[in-house]
Amino acid sequence: MKSKKIMIAGYRGMVGSAIRRKFVSEGHENLILSDRSEVDLINQKETEAFFAEHKPDYVIVAAAKVGGILANNIYRAEFIYDNLMIEANVINSAYKNNVEKLLFLGSSCIYPKLSPQPMKEEYLLTGPLEYTNEPYAIAKIAGIKLCENFYKQYGCNYFSVMPTNLFGPFDNFDLKTSHVLPALIRKVHEAKVNKQKEIEVWGTGTPKREFLFVEDLADAVHFLMDKINASDLYDNGYSHLNIGTGEDLTISELAEIIKSVVGFEGSIKYDSTKPDGTPRKLLDVSRLHNLGWQHKTALKTGIERTYGWYLKNRP
Ligand code: GDP
Repeated sequence: MKSKKIMIAGYRGMVGSAIRRKFVSEGHENLILSDRSEVDLINQKETEAFFAEHKPDYVIVAAAKVGGILANNIYRAEFIYDNLMIEANVINSAYKNNVEKLLFLGSSCIYPKLSPQPMKEEYLLTGPLEYTNEPYAIAKIAGIKLCENFYKQYGCNYFSVMPTNLFGPFDNFDLKTSHVLPALIRKVHEAKVNKQKEIEVWGTGTPKREFLFVEDLADAVHFLMDKINASDLYDNGYSHLNIGTGEDLTISELAEIIKSVVGFEGSIKYDSTKPDGTPRKLLDVSRLHNLGWQHKTALKTGIERTYGWYLKNRP
C-alpha cells in the first residue's frame, strides 16, 4: 500500500485529520489531501476535474456534513443534499478515473431506530429510522449502496465502514451543533471554571451510546485499506462493516466520567425538553474482530486526551 497515491477527502475534519496523522505515521508520503478550500465535492465539475488532475490510486471518503442531534434536525435539507452530492460525485469520479480501492465512511445512525442491539450489519434497512437524523442516514445509506452497486455492476473495489459515535482531537465543541461527548466536556469544563453548581444535560440521561476514540478509527481504516477488499464483504452477503468497541454506557454514566476527568463536583440537571434520540446504539463488531482488529484506547483515556486537546486548542 505504501506505493499508492492515497486521497483523503475531508482531511481537515476530526476523522480525516486523524486518518492523515495515521497514514503519515505509517510512512505514507504520497497523500492527496482535499478539503473545501482545494475542491468543493458538492460540485460535480470541480470534483471530476480534481480526480482527473490528481489520479489517486486509493480514496478514503471522510468528507461529509456532520453534526449532533440538534443540527441534524434543524439543517435537514443540507444534511441530505450535501451528503448525497459529495458521495455521488466522489464515487462516480473515482470510477471514471479507475480508482483501485475506495473506502466510504458512514455512521451507526443509519440503523433502524428500534433495531435489536447490538446492531449487526444485516439489520440495515429492516425498519424506520430515527426521525432526528433521517436525512443524514438516508444520504449515508445511499453512499453504502453506491459502493455496493458500483461493485456489482462494474466490479469496483469500493466498500463502506460504519463507525460508531467518534470523538477526539479536532472535535466540534460548539454546543449548538456538537455531539454529546464534546458538548459535555465543554459544559463541565466551563462549569468548573465559572464555579457553577450544576450543568445541564439534554434529554433524560438514560439513552445508551457507544464511543470510539477517533485515533482508533484511523487505525482501523489503515488496517482495512490494506487488508480487505470489496469482495470480502459483498460476496459474503453484507453491504458494509461496523467499526466500534462493542461496549456502551448511558449518557448519565458518560457525564460522570467526564466530571471526574475534568474535576467537577457539581450536580447534573436533565433537560427533558430536549430529545433523547434513539434509546440505544451499540454496534455488533464481531465481523471486525474476526478480521483481526480491536480498539486499543479505553474510553476514559480517550476522554483525557480529548480534554487535553480541548484545553490547548479551544477558541
Ligand atoms: P445521537 O447519538 O445521534 O443521538 O447524537 P448526540 O451525540 O447529539 O446525542 C446523544 C444523546 O446525548 C442524546 O440523547 C442527547 O439528548 C444527549 N445529550 C445530552 N446532553 C447533550 C448535549 O449537550 N449535546 C448533545 N448533542 N447531546 C446531548
